[in-house]
Amino acid sequence: MTQSLGTGLGSTNERLSTVHDVAMLDLDGVVYRGPDAVPGAAEALATAQGHGLRLAYITNNASRTAQQVADKLAGMGMPHVGADDVVTSAQAVAHLMADALPAGSAVLVIGGEGLRASLEERGLRCVGRLKDSPVAVVQGFHPDIGWHELSEAAYAIQSGLPWYASNTDLTVPTARGIAPGNGSLVQAVRNATGAEPIVAGKPERALFDETVARVGGTNPLMVGDRLDTDIEGAIAAGVVSLAVLTGVSSLQEIVDAGPGHRPTYVSADLHGLDEVHAEVKIASGTARCGSAEVTHDGTGISIVHGDAGATATLRAVVALAWDLSDRSDTSVRLDGTLLP
Ligand SMILES: [Mg+2]
Repeated sequence: MTQSLGTGLGSTNERLSTVHDVAMLDLDGVVYRGPDAVPGAAEALATAQGHGLRLAYITNNASRTAQQVADKLAGMGMPHVGADDVVTSAQAVAHLMADALPAGSAVLVIGGEGLRASLEERGLRCVGRLKDSPVAVVQGFHPDIGWHELSEAAYAIQSGLPWYASNTDLTVPTARGIAPGNGSLVQAVRNATGAEPIVAGKPERALFDETVARVGGTNPLMVGDRLDTDIEGAIAAGVVSLAVLTGVSSLQEIVDAGPGHRPTYVSADLHGLDEVHAEVKIASGTARCGSAEVTHDGTGISIVHGDAGATATLRAVVALAWDLSDRSDTSVRLDGTLLP
């Protein structure tokens, strides 16, 4: 990997699972979708682990404890997962606060059990009212948060206390659909105060730093489904990334990503961890990667040879599209066979 992060595809001579020593796995859209495991995810992760890759499951959701997340993952068949393999934005924000506040400080908590447990683990004392003399406010998602809690946070911030947030995701996926996330509740407090919180979750770097601190590793790989949080956060933190197509961001969105916002690698799903990501060669409107070949015919990119979902084909498509858009500054269209 000699290219600078975020500009072009990286290539390897070995499987990613042997090039890197730890994978930071985003959960929703990568490992599971809502209540169900992504098909093939457990098998792909077990294989990667067998090749020596340490797995760290990371989540912006601060409502559950690491143990509760581990239990959910184990229940879906993910390999050898315990609380030590899970890193949450609640843990990351608690670390930030413990570093900044006097030991044993009282903090006003607007959030759930996951956030409380993480703060207590760092020696901070959780209180629920301004009259209990907190020295800071922290906000994380919990479904029971209502107007009274949000108002208490607003009053505390107006009194001059520093404000922290586990994450600012505007939405949270639920079994019944998309619901307002912590970022929407943070916005309500922002409306009342005009203040800005210090944020720990993706795309901010605290969660990445927390993962390396807890799980270890010297050459991490971020694996995510969202360009705007997982991939941009990884780039900002100086971490190499793999984008998978099992969640929010589509192949077209990856193709459309500008320099500075691009993943290092791309694959259809987590099986990409156990593959070699061979170099793409581009010449006169045609890109080749291994036995895959794709071409741009003036209107869009189509496959000459290779399977639509294969990593080699995806790499050829993405590399060709980025090459074309970097020269012409126009969006590149994908042939229908390349779209889901
Ligand atoms: Mg995700």
